[in-house]
Amino acid sequence: MKVDSLPTITLKPGREKSVIRHHPWIFSGAIDRTDPGLEAGDSVGIRSSSGAFLGIGAFSPKSQIRCRIWEFTDNKSGEWDLQTLLLRRIEQAHLNRKNDKNLKYTDSFRLVHGESDLLPGLIVDIYKDVAVIQFLSSGVDLYREEIVQAVAQVANVSTIYERSDAEVRALEGLPELEGLLYGEIKTKPTVIVENDLKYQIDYTSGHKTGFYLDQRDNRNQIRQYSSNKRVLDCFSYSGGFSINSLVGGASSITAIDDSGEAISSLHENLRLNNFSVDAVECIQNDAFKQLRLFRDEAAQFDLIVLDPPKFAPTRKQIPNAARGYKDINLLALKLLSSNGVLFTFSCSGGVDMALFHKIVAGAALDAGVDIQVIGKMFQASDHPVLSTFPEGEYLKGLICRKIKK
Ligand code: SAH
Repeated sequence: MKVDSLPTITLKPGREKSVIRHHPWIFSGAIDRTDPGLEAGDSVGIRSSSGAFLGIGAFSPKSQIRCRIWEFTDNKSGEWDLQTLLLRRIEQAHLNRKNDKNLKYTDSFRLVHGESDLLPGLIVDIYKDVAVIQFLSSGVDLYREEIVQAVAQVANVSTIYERSDAEVRALEGLPELEGLLYGEIKTKPTVIVENDLKYQIDYTSGHKTGFYLDQRDNRNQIRQYSSNKRVLDCFSYSGGFSINSLVGGASSITAIDDSGEAISSLHENLRLNNFSVDAVECIQNDAFKQLRLFRDEAAQFDLIVLDPPKFAPTRKQIPNAARGYKDINLLALKLLSSNGVLFTFSCSGGVDMALFHKIVAGAALDAGVDIQVIGKMFQASDHPVLSTFPEGEYLKGLICRKIKK
């Protein structure tokens, strides 16, 4: 199809600025008019109010993010072939992961990280020989078959499974979907390797697509801080931080998660790595409550991990989220022994590093302790951040030491 035969959307005066800066989203309020008959996922040409051609995007009639940009270009005389573009970008994303030395010690990685891999709304995680896909925008949802074909062609997988059971789909007017897209679901569980440790993944029912690949480097890093330490792993899920601290020589480990399935999977992963299930004391409880119980008992730990779920899924929830982060950090800092270390995270996109730093500093003040930041952490490199899309940097963390007085 010729680019100049695509239907178009025209922006309001001045609203082309973010497009010129290559931000991939156009909000509904920035659009002056759209050609008639546009449907969800349709490719549209984008024009400024003065008629300048700015690029091509996917239209999403129900979402506040009315258009996600596939390509920034002023060339309107070329051909538009989205199927080839999708294949090329998935190939490039795959090549980048294959060449990434940080991924040398794992067989599982994020193959496509949405906007930051120039594929807005598309998430593809590889668990050994299984690909798990989330179609989170109208554009990628409309081209799901082409994407599945491309992933099958590029990645060496025998199964492709959909986990579009994410709440953000509702914002696009899309139903939550889940199921097999390609190949077969094996009866044997999928076991992956990450930094010499094994994890059993249930990609049909685990959180997100089954595992938190984004914490790979940070889980590895905790080994260095664990020797002879009493470790508390809050929001432990399948035990990544607990098991790495065990490898690092922790003297005791306590894990808290409110989900029974998470605790069972932690046990399974201990067994898989030839550790006794007693090596980690697992407490199924709300972390906020459990931290208060520990405070009342005057319990002490030398290394504490706080890796809570996303407290602020949207911008509106940021103030509440900030209170939640402050509360758990304050409690954790009280339980920390003198010279103890806190690994504290936020995976809320709306809470950036500067704000998170401020929240943790405020928690320390209120806890009556002084801390030093001795490290900053981010999502792993297979979750890249496009420089024009700061929203892509969702996971941030601080390593803090409680100053001995
Ligand atoms: N640290 C983990 C990932 C944590 S994901 C890893 O490295 O893989 C967040 C976890 O918090 C989930 O397992 C979820 O079950 C748990 N969770 C959510 N709310 C909770 C709460 N209020 N109290 C305790 N656990 C909670």
